[in-house]
Order: sequence, then structure tokens, then C-alpha cells
Amino acid sequence: MLMGDKMRPLDLYEKDASKKVTIYFEGKALEAYEGEKLPVALLANGIYWITTSLQGRKRGAFTFGPLPVVINGIKNMDGRKTLVKDGMRIERQNYGEFQEAVEIDGSKEVLREVVDVVIIGGGPAGIGATLELQEHLTVALIEERGWLGGLMFLKSIQQEGFEKEPKKVIKELTSQFNENVKVFTGTIALGVFDEGEYFLVPAVKKDQLIEIMAKRVVLATGAVENILLFENNEFPGVFRLDFALEVINKWGVAPGKRVALVGRKPERIIPELEKWGIEYIVVPNPKRVEGEEKVERLIDTNGNVYEVDAVIVSDYRLPDINPITQAGGKLRFKWGYYVPVLDEQNCIREGIYVAGSATGIKPHYANYLEGRLVGAYILKEFGHDVTPAVYREKLEEYEPESMPMQRIEFKDMNLEDVQICGCDVNLKKVDDVVKKGITDLQIVKRLTHLAMGFCQGRFCLFNGALLVSQRTGVDMAKIDLPVARPPLKNVRVKSLARRE
Ligand code: ATP
Repeated sequence: MLMGDKMRPLDLYEKDASKKVTIYFEGKALEAYEGEKLPVALLANGIYWITTSLQGRKRGAFTFGPLPVVINGIKNMDGRKTLVKDGMRIERQNYGEFQEAVEIDGSKEVLREVVDVVIIGGGPAGIGATLELQEHLTVALIEERGWLGGLMFLKSIQQEGFEKEPKKVIKELTSQFNENVKVFTGTIALGVFDEGEYFLVPAVKKDQLIEIMAKRVVLATGAVENILLFENNEFPGVFRLDFALEVINKWGVAPGKRVALVGRKPERIIPELEKWGIEYIVVPNPKRVEGEEKVERLIDTNGNVYEVDAVIVSDYRLPDINPITQAGGKLRFKWGYYVPVLDEQNCIREGIYVAGSATGIKPHYANYLEGRLVGAYILKEFGHDVTPAVYREKLEEYEPESMPMQRIEFKDMNLEDVQICGCDVNLKKVDDVVKKGITDLQIVKRLTHLAMGFCQGRFCLFNGALLVSQRTGVDMAKIDLPVARPPLKNVRVKSLARRE
């Protein structure tokens, strides 16, 4: 890794000097860049511990769970959403009553849009569906992140099926959007509701409520990273893969100077680390991470100790099932994870289609093709002359990836130190309830708060099901997952109450 005098300890390259500012963390002056994401600015300076959980556990920004901080004396600011400004003063905070909440300004007029099709998710699948549909229909494309391209946008290595590097591909594809397309980035879709002949998708951008009415809905909501269960798996310095890619490729900051890769798919990130010359070691059997304020070492199940300053979890992805069940879809267990039950046209029910890694984990290009396929199905339904079979045939080459079943090593782990859910729910808490014979996940959820908080179960329900299956011997396919309730993301909004 190149290190210049002008750079902060973990910068991968020099940034625009005209944007250089000073921020203060716990009173200490640090160099940052105007507009930089707060946890990234701290990371670049070697600071990983930002918040403390209710149980007194130190936490950073790059695994899971909320990130409340005090900014310029104001408590409960969301550290993940804060962008750096000159002179900003930041202090650590405990979780307290903090829950990530999107707050809607009731005094603002609701923005209303009526379109033929609303697409939720702006990754390769959502982009593919938009491009197909725009020829004949009006489209609203809603994306939670500030950019289009989903996970692929965060990669810098050329992806199979595409001829250029990811950012160029996304730019070229999205520059083809025509006047039939309205793009809403930084906008969270809160759910899908029936409203007569239409579907209503309420969404929120900052504090503005947007109500989109559409005749058809495409769920292109993608996948989430599987949470790997090892001791202190949420300690500051442990990175979820998408966050690691974001700090490297979007912000030009290394996760650490010497990184351990854990999880069953290190190949998902190795090319990116090699490109930047970030030193790494692959540790397939992690047991515990330790350190004072951040990762200092990783210990594997054979007792080997690795001196590292960051750990990246590079494992499988799982379809995000929350939007599916909220919209009335059913699930089945296939390829080692839960996927939506679809008809021949990729619908979970009449008018609601699913495309991309939300239907099964496959390469980005296949997800893009599936977006186009679903777009073609909708066009056909509206009477346009299209041949979905062209896409269907190409897609047949891509069987979704299978995830081998993992075993939770109950006996060898200190279960209190293993976080199953970002909201301070450890493996012991859930296991104690399951061992008492309570195996209905709906009840486990109420008793332990598993899947009740920040992520609404997107990340933790799978491991909850795995635990129940392993403790009881019940097949994963037979476990009933609780249906996700709206809103899909925590939101404080009076106007939604009438729809629940
Ligand atoms: P691939 O898995 O190959 O990357 P994909 O398009 O199927 O392709 P993602 O790249 O994960 O999947 O893209 C899904 C996108 O959906 C993400 O960028 C995510 O931010 C967005 N998303 C998920 N849920 C919501 C929501 N409720 N509101 C708005 N956007 C959402």
C-alpha cells in the first residue's frame, strides 16, 4: 500500500486537498474531507470504536446494529448517515433509546406520483427492468442508497458478462434511461399496499414522504450478507463485505493494514484487496476476535493466533426476504436459503414481480437479465410485442448458487459473545429460549427481540431459523419464518398508521 506523508493512516490515495477539514472526535482533532461519510473519516484515522451497545459492547460502523453518536452536542444522530463538515465535534454514545428512524416532516406536502410500474431496488436487476419497460411504460425506480448499481457499483473488477468495469457499465446503462423513467435515489420504499386497481408504495427521501401509485410492482430488492457466527463478530474492526467494498472503492480507505478474511467465500473480495495491495490472510475457521478498542487479533478454532487490525466477513449472500413476505409472497427453502415462491412469470402474486438476487443468488449479469425478463413479461401483459423467451433462455445458463448448511458450534463457543442480531441479541439469549422448547420463531422473536429492531430481521432471521433447526432437528424447509410487517424500515410517520 502506498503511504504518503500527506495521507491519513488508512488512506489508499491522496484526496482533494481543497476539501480538507478538521473534525474533533472525543475532543481530538482529526483530518477529514468535506462530504466524507463520518465513520469513513474516523476509519481513515485509525478509529473504529464509535458507539456502545446496551450491553456495554463496543461497536463500529461496519458490521450491524445502529450507530448513534453525539454531533455538535446533539444526541442520537445516526453516524452512518452523517457527512463530515469542517469543525464538526463528535462524541461516542450508548444505544440508549436509539432506534434508527426515518422521520417524516408532517408539515411538508406529500409528493404523489402515478406510474405504470414501480421498481424497488436500483441494482443490476432494477436497472435491467427499467431499461426494458421504458420503451412503452412509465417507471418509478426507487433506490435506498445514494447511487444506482447496488452491490456491483461497489466493485472495481470487471464482472462476468459485462465488458467494462462496473462503474462504467452502470453509467452506460443508466444514461440510456429515457423520459419515461423517474429515478428516486436516497429513497426508501416502506412497503407495498393494495389500493383498489393500483398498488401504493409509500417511500421516504430524507424527511419527504412520497406516495407512488402503480399498476405493477417489481421487487428488485437484492440480497443481504450472511452473518457469520463467531465470538465478538460485531467488534469494531469487523467488516461486513459490502461495507468493506464501500470503504475501499467508494471512499479510497483501507479497512486495515493487515486484514483477516473469514467466511466461506474469500474469493469475493481477494481481487479487490490485491488490486490495492492491502495485506490479507485467509482464516477459514474463526473462533474469536479480541482487542481493546478495535480488532487486534483473531483466534481460530485450532488456537492459532493472527495479529490483524481488521476482519472482513466474506461469506454467502441471502435473498432479502422482508420485501417479499411484506408484499404477500410465500417462501420456500431452496439452494440452502429462503427464496420467494414464484409463478412462471416471476410473480409472488398478481401484479407483483421479483427479479435479481431476491429470487436466488447469481452473478450480477444474470440478475440484470432477470430484470429485463420481468420487464418483458410486464410489457407482454400490457399487450406489447416482446419475446421474454430471449432472456429466459440466456438465464437458464445461470443456476442460482447453493449455500452449504453451516453448523453452529454451540459447545466450543462462548455464546454470550456471539451476536445473532445487531440489536444486542446474542446467541445465548436465543438458544436459551429454544432449549426451553419454544421453537416457533414468532414467539422466539417476541421473547428475545430477535428480528424486532434495526434490520427488522433481514440479517438475523436466517440464523434464528438455523439455530431452531439444529437444536430441534426440524428441517429448515419446515420452519415458518415470521412475515415482515410494514414499514420495511423503521420510520416515524403518522400518515402510515392508517394503512397498517
Ligand atoms: P446483484 O445481487 O447482482 O447485485 P440485484 O439488483 O438483484 O443484483 P442488489 O445489487 O443487491 O441486487 O440491489 C438491490 C438494491 O435494492 C440495493 O441497492 C438496495 O439498496 C435496494 N433496496 C433494497 N430494499 C430497498 C427498499 N426498501 N427501498 C429502496 N431500495 C431498496
